[in-house]
Amino acid sequence: MQISKNSVVTLNYTMFDDQGAVIDKNHHPIVYLHGGYDNILPAVEAALDGQVVGQVVSVSMGPDEAFGEFDPSLVHEEDVGLFPPDLEVGMMFETRDPETDETAQYRVTAIDAGMVTVDGNHPLAGMSVRFDAEILEVRAATEEEIAHGHVHGEHGHHH
Ligand SMILES: [Zn+2]
Repeated sequence: MQISKNSVVTLNYTMFDDQGAVIDKNHHPIVYLHGGYDNILPAVEAALDGQVVGQVVSVSMGPDEAFGEFDPSLVHEEDVGLFPPDLEVGMMFETRDPETDETAQYRVTAIDAGMVTVDGNHPLAGMSVRFDAEILEVRAATEEEIAHGHVHGEHGHHH
């Protein structure tokens, strides 16, 4: 069975940075609903389209196709007094814009001389990556999965 719209795809993946070092790898096979449901990076989804079980696809992506260009306007310095006392580099904070109700994730990247640097970019922003995926299983999605836009059952969504 070829991967096409409304296929449920199970795969193993490894992601590499532009130096060929592994930056991410699944521990359990991941399962997603194929066909533009925004469950996986669009460039990866395009490469998987039409493929079958056993194939390995390798997708090289620039930052624009992967996790976005690095946006310097998302880096802010704030007074340390605005943060909890157990603050550490690497901590994540979520902010909510009261006007748009949109949430944003910020990561603490530096604490120095009473100032905290927070960065709202994805940790992999600005990076070119290679995504290798091995296709383990392909099946047709159920009507309910299509209606929900995600996979149910083992490794899928539970609700
Ligand atoms: Zn559901």
